Amino acid sequence: MQITKPHAALLSSPGMGHIIPVIELAKRLSANHGFRVTVFVLETDGTSAQSKFLNSTGLDVVNLPSPDISELVDPADHVVTKIGVIMRETVPALRSKIAAMTQKPTALIVDLFGTDALRLASEFKMLTYAFITSNARFLGVTIYYPTLEKDVKEEHTVQRKPLEIPGCEPVRFEDTLDAYLVPDEPLYRDFVRHCLAYPKTDGILVNTWDEMEPKSLKSLQDPKLLGRFARVPVYPIGPLCRPVESSKTVHPVLDWLNQQPDESVLYISFGSGGSLTAKLLTELAWGLEQSQQRFVWVVRPPIDGSSCSAYLSANGGGTKDSTPEYLPEGFVTRTSDRGLVVPSWAPQAEVLAHRAVGGFLTHCGWNSTLEGVVNGVPMIAWPLFAEQNMNAALLSDELGIAVRAEEANTRSEIEAIVRKVMAEEEGEEMRRKVKKLRDNAEMSLSSEGGGSAHESLCRVTEECQRFLGRDRDLARGA
Ligand code: UDP
Repeated sequence: MQITKPHAALLSSPGMGHIIPVIELAKRLSANHGFRVTVFVLETDGTSAQSKFLNSTGLDVVNLPSPDISELVDPADHVVTKIGVIMRETVPALRSKIAAMTQKPTALIVDLFGTDALRLASEFKMLTYAFITSNARFLGVTIYYPTLEKDVKEEHTVQRKPLEIPGCEPVRFEDTLDAYLVPDEPLYRDFVRHCLAYPKTDGILVNTWDEMEPKSLKSLQDPKLLGRFARVPVYPIGPLCRPVESSKTVHPVLDWLNQQPDESVLYISFGSGGSLTAKLLTELAWGLEQSQQRFVWVVRPPIDGSSCSAYLSANGGGTKDSTPEYLPEGFVTRTSDRGLVVPSWAPQAEVLAHRAVGGFLTHCGWNSTLEGVVNGVPMIAWPLFAEQNMNAALLSDELGIAVRAEEANTRSEIEAIVRKVMAEEEGEEMRRKVKKLRDNAEMSLSSEGGGSAHESLCRVTEECQRFLGRDRDLARGA
């Protein structure tokens, strides 16, 4: 008898921060769990870092045309609103592609902002999963908050009290999501609309693992705590990170790192689209210089205004401009014996895996956070937008593997925090803790000894196989 493989269709929102984990999930479903997979992404120009990355995955990746949203959004709208509209307008193209498939998907897996596509499930008889490319803490907060009464919400957003979350650490006002501060604006409605859709799927996959977020995961799996709001099984399937391809990657930054002592370099990056104001950029440059520590800094021009404004346009192609005019005059020359400035984009997975890297100043995007952890690198948490403040709190307050840069606004504060991580005992202590976490991250993914990520995906696979079997029985008239 020929066994039909379950077929997973994965839909990714735009941005490398979404595409990378979706691709990694697809790879695991295909390589370890016997799925046929199709990954849907929005097309970009062929020279972008995204296209290069997607061409190398070896997966069946289908490009959907990028819809023209110029008439549907205001240029000033928040990136969440823009991505939501893009994803909504993409559904008809996705529908046509699925309709044309001979073997229809058994399961449709959408990420944070792809929830409009879930309506295709009944038409094509698919199971549905939400893939939270962020963490359990984010999932917990976002499914719980919309259920609260207005006055309880206002205690947090107006009176600035911590938000109590069942079974989890409270969220400080300073760390709360931007969307919650604007309850009457489209940003709030757009954001919450996605979050309320997660519990209506057949299961929620989260890019995390037990030791990384013990409290939040336990609560989400407990029907008396956050499980009441999740309503469907929550599967920790992480850490899914971009694989390190050091032997295949040629980049001047890796050549430079080869010349540096072990664990001596601070790597600085604000993700695929984060940027600092001109003032902070200048203070960071002076702080780094004064710290006398080695560094690699992926630097982008300042954008005064929204700290995520480069997000949707960030293709990370690697600009040729090697003279950043926006840094203090003479900075590159003065630091050339111990620092390297890389414009726009670096092979981050390989950099963090390099033996010379001993610290990571990060904007706390979840992918970057995971890449720091799986390489056992202590962090300086410098959150900019989205859920990054909550991630920073997790890394510093709950896990003790990062120091927060929130007080570091001046060059001398930045100098002190850099030295703390790179040259002082506090940094050593964080390094010990993050290496322990790295070791159990590896165990989570392992098929031997029942790693939690592996077990979760086995359960999803069984569910899909049962669903397939039921379909076959129905077709045979059983
Ligand atoms: N990235 C990279 N090189 C860079 C900047 C970012 O390879 O110069 C990758 C990084 O390794 C991570 C992703 O882009 O996998 C960024 O995702 P994250 O969730 O950290 O942040 P976002 O870009 O979504 O804000």
